[in-house]
Amino acid sequence: MSPPAFQRAERVGRDLRYRLSFLFPADFVLLIFITCGSGDGAIALAYQGSEVQPDMLVLGRYSVGVGDRFAHQARAQLRAFLLAAGQGVEVVPVWNKSNREHITIGSEPASVRAAAEAAVRELGWSRSWHVDADHIRLETVDRFVPHSDFFTIDVADFIGRAPAEADLAAFIKRHGELAGRIQIPGIDQTIELSRAEVECMAGKYLFAVQEAGRIYRQLEKAKGAGRFITEISMDETDHPQTPPELLVILAAIADAGIPVQTIAPKFTGRFNKGVDYVGDARQFETEFNADLAVIAYAISQYKLPANLKLSVHSGSDKFSIYPAIRRSLTRTGAGLHIKTAGTTWLEEVIGLAEAGGNGLTLAKEIYTEALGHLDELCAPYAAVIDIRPKKLPTRETVQGWTSKQYVNALRHDPACPEFNPHLRQLLHVGYKIAAKMGDRYLKLLEECEPTIARNVTGNLYDRHIKPLFVDRPSQ
Ligand SMILES: [Zn+2]
Repeated sequence: MSPPAFQRAERVGRDLRYRLSFLFPADFVLLIFITCGSGDGAIALAYQGSEVQPDMLVLGRYSVGVGDRFAHQARAQLRAFLLAAGQGVEVVPVWNKSNREHITIGSEPASVRAAAEAAVRELGWSRSWHVDADHIRLETVDRFVPHSDFFTIDVADFIGRAPAEADLAAFIKRHGELAGRIQIPGIDQTIELSRAEVECMAGKYLFAVQEAGRIYRQLEKAKGAGRFITEISMDETDHPQTPPELLVILAAIADAGIPVQTIAPKFTGRFNKGVDYVGDARQFETEFNADLAVIAYAISQYKLPANLKLSVHSGSDKFSIYPAIRRSLTRTGAGLHIKTAGTTWLEEVIGLAEAGGNGLTLAKEIYTEALGHLDELCAPYAAVIDIRPKKLPTRETVQGWTSKQYVNALRHDPACPEFNPHLRQLLHVGYKIAAKMGDRYLKLLEECEPTIARNVTGNLYDRHIKPLFVDRPSQ
């Protein structure tokens, strides 16, 4: 590699942007933009093929998706990112909300940006942040367009649909390199796929990627190329994608011309809402490392954006796999996006219960109502929860609880004997109950603000950001 050549530096408003370009022996150029000061990111990496697209909106290396169902916790959440910054670790906040959440709550996409903007202003956050239109589809994307700069294109429902025969044949012809032995740096075993296997994988995923392409192009038309971050998600499906499948998917994404920056596959094991990972943590680590290696390989092989990284959906509270993730990120230098939406809503309930008085009374009422609507609340989330109704406390039991008993049952402390993952999952999907309470709920959020905010910040920083991005990796 030739030494980096300092290309030019220019002031864009308050930003001093250094553009360095490294010339590789091949015909591509790696651009590293180091943006100082305020604005759109401290360190941004963008890779393009022979064409240079210098002003692409780029997601930083570490980012955390946060959900704020009732638009009251953005400040408390942002404080967790400030704590990380205080430790010298840049983690980018991304406020995400799906169409499903907006419909359940009765909120509008504009409210997510407004709440985030207010928090950014009040706390003087000068680094980058984004608003993610989570799990959008062709028919739901439009109303998010003016308010989001990050789009999670969800094509899980299109997996398994047959692509046009000619498209499949063209893919197989173009990607002769996928059949045979592929040695991927970072994976011990050689990947070996027959032509028939490649055809089978492409048959399963090509149509879904083409659908992502249709949504991407609609966005590109509406917002302009490079003005938004693209994620593709395939996590809400029954079968995990293997690392070789991920490689085929990435080849198809490159063909479709989608500048994907994050990809959310379905991993092995269960990623239930609000509780720990269920599965073999060692197997997860092997798969996670293989996925990282496949991504690094696909970036150079198919000229995908250099900052392309994994996105872990339902990633909050997966404490048992965080050490493995931390080790992998440290070893490889890879980035990560992790979505933690519902964990903040549960901290609101914890904060209400901890405040006692009216807060505790309301927290009990939320549980009682959730218990009464168990089936209805669980149905949309059936694939991502495991609740054993027999393990749920009765409404009478909960009515008799003190603040401490309620908090201990709900707070995600696996070492606490009173912790009840069934109650936690039920309340996780029970936000509809609070939405129905309307102003009564919002008023108490404001009354109990100090206790709630402390729990929201502490949960996000101590239990999520710190073990994933700040702590020294364990061996
Ligand atoms: Zn998801």
